[in-house]
Amino acid sequence: MSGSRVLVLNSGSSSVKYQLLDMRDGSRLAVGLVERIGESGSRIKHSPAGGESRERNGSVPDHDAALKAMAAELDRDGLGLDSPELAAIGHRVVHGGLRFTEPTVIDDAVLAEIERLIPVAPLHNPANLTGIRTAQTLRPDLPQVAVFDTAFHTTMPESAARYAIDVETADAHRVRRYGFHGTSHAYVSRETARLLGRAPEDVNVIVLHLGNGASASAVRGGRCVDTSMGLTPLEGLVMGTRSGDTDPAVIFHLMRVGEMSADEIDTLLNKRSGLIGLCGDNDMREIRRRVDAGDERARLAFDIYIHRLKKYIGAYYAVLGRVDAVAFTAGVGENSAPVREAALAGLEGLGLAVDGGLNAVRGDGARLISPAGARVAVAVVPTDEEMEIAAQTYALVNDSGNQNLT
Ligand code: ADP
Repeated sequence: MSGSRVLVLNSGSSSVKYQLLDMRDGSRLAVGLVERIGESGSRIKHSPAGGESRERNGSVPDHDAALKAMAAELDRDGLGLDSPELAAIGHRVVHGGLRFTEPTVIDDAVLAEIERLIPVAPLHNPANLTGIRTAQTLRPDLPQVAVFDTAFHTTMPESAARYAIDVETADAHRVRRYGFHGTSHAYVSRETARLLGRAPEDVNVIVLHLGNGASASAVRGGRCVDTSMGLTPLEGLVMGTRSGDTDPAVIFHLMRVGEMSADEIDTLLNKRSGLIGLCGDNDMREIRRRVDAGDERARLAFDIYIHRLKKYIGAYYAVLGRVDAVAFTAGVGENSAPVREAALAGLEGLGLAVDGGLNAVRGDGARLISPAGARVAVAVVPTDEEMEIAAQTYALVNDSGNQNLT
């Protein structure tokens, strides 16, 4: 195989994020985003490496138009999709169920299986499928690889993956805990081991992926043994707009007493809960500004967020037994020193502490923020899901290329 470039596509229902990477040195040749697909005010933002970013408004009625707009921008930089340098396209696919435990070269059977999983990922898998099908029409000859958000979590033991509900009913409807953000948890747990100068197999890590969506995972020796998201991304931590854990009876109560429909409650718990439901803001920067200004609702929202986070840290400490590192990642985890400090406050008895000075330093690389000699390392590790998707895609197409040669 000759090409060394991989195009990574993350297709949502109304947006497509893309990055073109050169896997010889891991450099980013271009990154971009097409937003508001099928809505008014569509636009594309495109940033070539070392060049001026470009932003354009225009009609983008569907994913086909979105990918053509992307292709045109790449063309302008001499990075067109028809280049022999392009080795493969890697797609982020949210739900891979139990079948997809590894990145997978996409064929008709794979597409059919992703489609079969739509009932458990009604928002994400259809958009991912549209992105794949559209990309296939642009370069039908090119290997396309699906990298699943659930794959890293398929190593969870049944004791962590099953809900304690009637087994036949659960199995009939594929109700179990799948977990999400797996590409990020895989990347960050490995990078944390690297930061400690140890092999991933020797290290137990609690990964806290705190973005707008948020999830925690317990990783033992490089394998996920528990994670906080479940059948869907709704379970677990308090998030920007999602409630995370609630008593399931809240739903029956809202149906019976609040006379709300299943769809209304779905929207309530996924879009109007979490930080935004508690205080009207979901951006941690704004919440901290309000807390510092003495705003009580923002304070309560922050405290609920931290309380939940601390409970998961304690739970995963118990699940792992021995913890070598706690790693903070994603928008909040990488940038919010107050969240990191509050999440670990009072956990000195578990060997967990944050050094105030190190925590306050802003940086963009992986770094330790625990005091020297701490029993458990605390790290800030920027996630890079696109790099991980590109690396897995490239490794897979190179592997199959080699097999064909032998
Ligand atoms: P997504 O889940 O959308 O991928 P990100 O990982 O990009 O999210 O995280 C986005 C969130 O990160 C924002 O909603 C905001 O709360 C938080 N964030 C970003 N920058 C900062 C910052 N400097 N300080 C605190 N929080 C931040």
